[in-house]
Amino acid sequence: MGADVGFLNDVSASDHRYSLLENRCRRRSFLLGTGFLTGLTITSQWQPVLANLRFSSYPFSLGVASGDPLPDSVVLWTRLAPQPLAGGGMPPRDISVQWQVALDENMRQVVRRGKTLAKSELAHSVHVDVRGLDPDRWYWYQFKVGTEVSPIGRTRTAPAINSSIPQLNFAFVSCQDWQNGYYTAYGHMADEDLDFVVHLGDYIYECGQKSGGVRQHNTPEAFSLEDYRNRHALYKTDSNLQAVHAAFPWIVTWDDHEVNNNYANLISQDNQTLEDFTERRANAYQAYYEHMPLRLSSLPNGVNMQLYRRFTFGDLAEFHVLDTRQYRSNQPCNDGFQPRCPHAFDSSATMTGAKQEKWLLKGLEQSRSRWNVIAQQTMFAEYNFKITPDLGLFLDVFNLDQWDGYVAARHRLLNFLHQRQPSNPVIISGDIHSSWVHDLQLDFDNPNSATVGTEFVGTSISSDFPPQLIPVVRSSLINNPHTKFFNATFRGYIRCNLNRERWQSDYRVVSSIVDLNASIKTLASFVVENGQPGALVN
Ligand code: CA
Ligand code: FE
Repeated sequence: MGADVGFLNDVSASDHRYSLLENRCRRRSFLLGTGFLTGLTITSQWQPVLANLRFSSYPFSLGVASGDPLPDSVVLWTRLAPQPLAGGGMPPRDISVQWQVALDENMRQVVRRGKTLAKSELAHSVHVDVRGLDPDRWYWYQFKVGTEVSPIGRTRTAPAINSSIPQLNFAFVSCQDWQNGYYTAYGHMADEDLDFVVHLGDYIYECGQKSGGVRQHNTPEAFSLEDYRNRHALYKTDSNLQAVHAAFPWIVTWDDHEVNNNYANLISQDNQTLEDFTERRANAYQAYYEHMPLRLSSLPNGVNMQLYRRFTFGDLAEFHVLDTRQYRSNQPCNDGFQPRCPHAFDSSATMTGAKQEKWLLKGLEQSRSRWNVIAQQTMFAEYNFKITPDLGLFLDVFNLDQWDGYVAARHRLLNFLHQRQPSNPVIISGDIHSSWVHDLQLDFDNPNSATVGTEFVGTSISSDFPPQLIPVVRSSLINNPHTKFFNATFRGYIRCNLNRERWQSDYRVVSSIVDLNASIKTLASFVVENGQPGALVN
C-alpha cells in the first residue's frame, strides 16, 4: 500500500528468539498421513566434523524454513549468520553444511541426508531441494555446521497429483512492517493446524528508521545488497516469525516493499535513474532469494527473477502464484488515490506482463482442481472510494496501485472466468492492510452482472491502515454492493479450510500488536459453496 503512515512508541525489540521456537516445534505431533517409509531409515546420524569451524556466535541465528512443497520434494532453508545484523559475520569462503530429514520430531528416523555449500556469494544461505520424499506427510529437518546444530523445523509435502484428499488447511498473510508493531499474529499462527502458509508480499519494508514505534529498523533505507541483506536478517530475528517458518512450509511471493514502495518493473517511486534503480532491484531480488525457501528455478538471473509459479494439492486445489511487480506497466494518472484518467483504461497496461497473463489463463484452463486459487498482491475487486471534497460534489476515487488502475487487464481475467468457467476461482490478496471480502462481478458497475469469482483480502501482520481512511471506506460501502465485508481495525491472518463442497475463510485477528501477550479471535468467517461464486457469511 502506498500510504505507510503512522508509527507508535519507541521501545527496543525484545530478544527471546530460541526458547519459543523450540517449544513450538516440540509440541507438534503427526497429524495426517499413514506414514509409510521411503526405504529404510538411516541410523548413523551426523558425519564426523573434519575441520573444526569456529563461529563468533550461534550461526543459525535466523532460524530455519521450508517451502514450495511438491508431492516428492520440499525446499529446506537456512543461512549461516553469526552476526546477522552486520553482514552475517562469516568468512568470505563457501562453507559445507550438513542437513537431514527425519520422520520424527526427535530426528531419530532419518530418511534423507546430505551436504550442501553455503556460498559466500549468496550470503551463506542454504537452499536444499530434497527429492524422493513421500507425498502428503510431515517431515522434520535440521542443519549442522562444524559442531553447531540448527533448531529442528517441521515441513510437509503436497499430496500426490490427482489424488483425492478430503481437505486442506492453510493461512495467508502479508505486510509485516517491523517498525509498526510485534508479530503477535505469528505467535498464534504457529499453534494453528495448517498444511502450509502463503505470504503475499511486503515481507520486509525498505524504509529507513522511524522513531515512535515499539521497535525500529536498525539501518537507513535499503539500496545496496548489504542493506537488503541486513534488513531481511533483522526481520528474520523475530522469534514469532521463526516459529511459523519452523512449523510449516511456506509459499511466498513479493509485493513492492521488498524493493521500493509502489515500484513498477524498472520504474522507481523515488525518482532514481533507470541505471540506479536497475541496480537496486537486482540487489533487492538477490537478498529476497537468499532469505526465502525458494527453488533454484527462482535464483536471480541478472536483474530478473522467476517468482510466478504453480502448486497443486491433489485434486482439491491449484495455487496460481502471481508476481504483479516485476513486469508491471507504470501506474496511471500519477499513482495513489485518484480519479481515473483515460490511461487507467489503457488496454496495453498490465499488472502481470503478457507472458505471465498467458501462463495464468492457460493454467486455469488446464486445471483439474476443485478450487483455483489466484494468490497475488493487491486488491483485485473494484472499490470506488467516492470522496466528497466539496459539499454535494462526489468524486469517483480509486487506488490506482491496485487492479483499479489496470481496468482492461482486470476485465480480460474477469471475462475469461465468465467465458471458460474454470472450477471455483478464488483470489487471495494483501497489500491494503485491512480485511475485505468481495464478490467478483463481471462488470462492477452493474450489480446485476454475473458473479464470476470470490476475493478474500487479508489484513496485515503489523502494517497499519491510515485511520483517516476508515470513515471514507465505511461511507462508500453502499456504493460498492459487491463488497461484503470491510475492517481495518485489526491485524492478523486469514485461515482457510477447503473441502470438496465448501471453502471457509476465518479472519483471525490479534487484540494488539504492541502487547506481546495479545490474544487471538475470529473476527468474521465467510464461506464459498462449490459451484457458487461469491461469499456467504458463515
Ligand atoms: Ca504493498
Ligand atoms: Fe504493505
